[in-house]
Amino acid sequence: MNEFADIASELKQKGVRLVAVSKTRTIEEITLLYDQGQRDFGENRVQELRDKYPLLPGDIRWHLIGHLQTNKVKYIAPWIHLIQSVDSLILLQEIDRQAQKCKRIIPCLLQVYVAQEQTKFGLTEAELNELLTSPEFASLKNIRIEGIMGMATNTEDAMLIKKEFARLQAIFTDCRARFFAGADHFATLSMGMSSDYKSAVQQGSNMVRIGSLLFS
Ligand SMILES: *Cc1c(COP(=O)(O)O)cnc(C)c1O
Repeated sequence: MNEFADIASELKQKGVRLVAVSKTRTIEEITLLYDQGQRDFGENRVQELRDKYPLLPGDIRWHLIGHLQTNKVKYIAPWIHLIQSVDSLILLQEIDRQAQKCKRIIPCLLQVYVAQEQTKFGLTEAELNELLTSPEFASLKNIRIEGIMGMATNTEDAMLIKKEFARLQAIFTDCRARFFAGADHFATLSMGMSSDYKSAVQQGSNMVRIGSLLFS
């Protein structure tokens, strides 16, 4: 049985968007999923994304899901579909600046940190609040915040994972009510990877980022 087809149809039924995480995968491996209809692909490194972009079909929607350095925004600004890993106002300002140069609006998710790991990037809840209430944020014209991205702790503890996804869902809902009321574009809650996507979907995720499970 084809793992990709199973997962894709399961998620489609639930109205959850699937981003196939293609980091470290070859052009041939990506093409195999593309030929089965997959169009959203995610990469976590700008260099790898830049290498692959010209070699693959133009109707792929590319997502950046890894930490983004401000000096690299310019390389992806003309064509990136969604930057999921925005974790500072400085970065958002640079995305806005580059988007303006390209005469486009770049969709972004704010990455929120809830996991119990020191290594994960993202905004704390307090930093998220600060960003969204700042006058600098209000002045940005060429970015559009479409939702929240987050990760759970990498653990076997299913209760902890569930709790963290529930927390992200609560932050998403609260954020929408307080800062994006009536804004239809703030609608994406990106959470869940190969090991925990079922739990994420149960807690309200509507976009999952799955790599190893699809390509194994
Ligand atoms: C690698 C990665 C994923 C996918 O991980 P898998 O375990 O391969 O499904 C999802 N999100 C981010 C941010 C990643 O870096």
